[in-house]
Amino acid sequence: MPLAKLVEAAKREGRTLLTEVESKEMLKEVGIPVTDTRLARSQEEAISLAREEGFPAVLKIVSPDITHKSDVGGVKLGLENIDAVGNAYEEIVRSVIQAQPNAKVHGVSVQKMARSGVEVIIGASHDPQFGPILMFGLGGVSVEVLGDVSFRIIPITQRDAREMVREIKGYPILEGIRGQAAVSIESIEEALLKISEYMYGHPEVKELDLNPIFVYSDGLVAVDARVVLEEEALQ
Ligand code: ADP
Ligand code: MG
Repeated sequence: MPLAKLVEAAKREGRTLLTEVESKEMLKEVGIPVTDTRLARSQEEAISLAREEGFPAVLKIVSPDITHKSDVGGVKLGLENIDAVGNAYEEIVRSVIQAQPNAKVHGVSVQKMARSGVEVIIGASHDPQFGPILMFGLGGVSVEVLGDVSFRIIPITQRDAREMVREIKGYPILEGIRGQAAVSIESIEEALLKISEYMYGHPEVKELDLNPIFVYSDGLVAVDARVVLEEEALQ
């Protein structure tokens, strides 16, 4: 979906956060593979979408007021059948209402469980001094606890992309350790370049957070995405 349409929708509701569903629509434009993610507005719709997308399914809260979905009980993984999907829908809505009663809820998103891969994170944000910057790291504790990340100022070159991937301490994990197959480093470099180019051309995007991306030996897929729009873009 073109960014202009997503900006329009956000403008109407006076918000800067795009939902996961909207952020993934934007990513398709960028050329980043994402898990096919659809919005259900009722329990019945969630069940029928899960049937279409396939099991095991994943359900997540869709709200422009919720940044970290897991923190409010808004993510249910590995749902094997329609009963599990139905129950997950109710549980998600119940726990989100309890945790954040004033949150505006669009519904619940439905996607298929992605096969597991090495988790990486790509982020972009605006630094008051340097302007747009790009970040890369491995998922989980690597970023949150160890701060093992690389940064470049946008726009990056092919060489920057190469270096960003190789200069993190966790790089050997991408090359494959303990008999694990190497992941597609090329697909990570390509994603970094595409995001850099998109951010450079779209100053109305203030922040982009792909956390996590699953990387495989033959490519990658973003399973979560969050975009924050620049306040000025909404005026
Ligand atoms: P949050 O808003 O809490 O960051 P996420 O969408 O990232 O929510 O989901 C939390 C975790 O669930 C992810 O870090 C990932 O490990 C897992 N997850 C999310 N979507 C999928 C999916 N489609 N397939 C497999 N695992 C997923
Ligand atoms: Mg996430």
